Amino acid sequence: MAHVFEHASSGRSKCRGCSQAIAKGELRFGERLPNPFAEGEMTHWFHPLCAAFKRPEALLQALVEWQEPVPDREALEGVARRASAQKRLPRIDGAERSPSSQARCRHCHEPIEKGAWRVRLVFYEEGTFNPSGFIHLACREPYFETADDILDHLLHFSRALGAEDRNELQRLLRENG
Ligand SMILES: [Zn+2]
Ligand SMILES: [Zn+2]
Repeated sequence: MAHVFEHASSGRSKCRGCSQAIAKGELRFGERLPNPFAEGEMTHWFHPLCAAFKRPEALLQALVEWQEPVPDREALEGVARRASAQKRLPRIDGAERSPSSQARCRHCHEPIEKGAWRVRLVFYEEGTFNPSGFIHLACREPYFETADDILDHLLHFSRALGAEDRNELQRLLRENG
């Protein structure tokens, strides 16, 4: 049951990591899993970089086994190594301003005020990424148990943010550590 890299033969597959379509001809990573509904196995497709962030162990395993060239192999491996170093980092699903004050932070359990920055979380269970709440941006270090820079990781899954918000997020992350 080996994972695969291949060029998408159509534009119909969707990336499990970012929910965007994978363009025809684009390189995609296929995580092979046992099929829970039938005999055999199934393939979950990802943009390789999305897999490096959200399925780092599977991608690292694939990079070891895959003998053929993979574009940006070293960069992918670096991202996957950082993401797999702390077990909660693959839960990152982007950053956003809280649209209400209803959600509580999974780390400190205080409400996240309307307009405050929060990190979206997803938990991976049985092949599916389930939305699993939020943490304050300021709670990221104790929650993820790392002081590493997670800006690239946050921005990668925050395609809805405009340039101004991206700049502000960057400024906030640089300011308080
Ligand atoms: Zn993707
Ligand atoms: Zn918090």
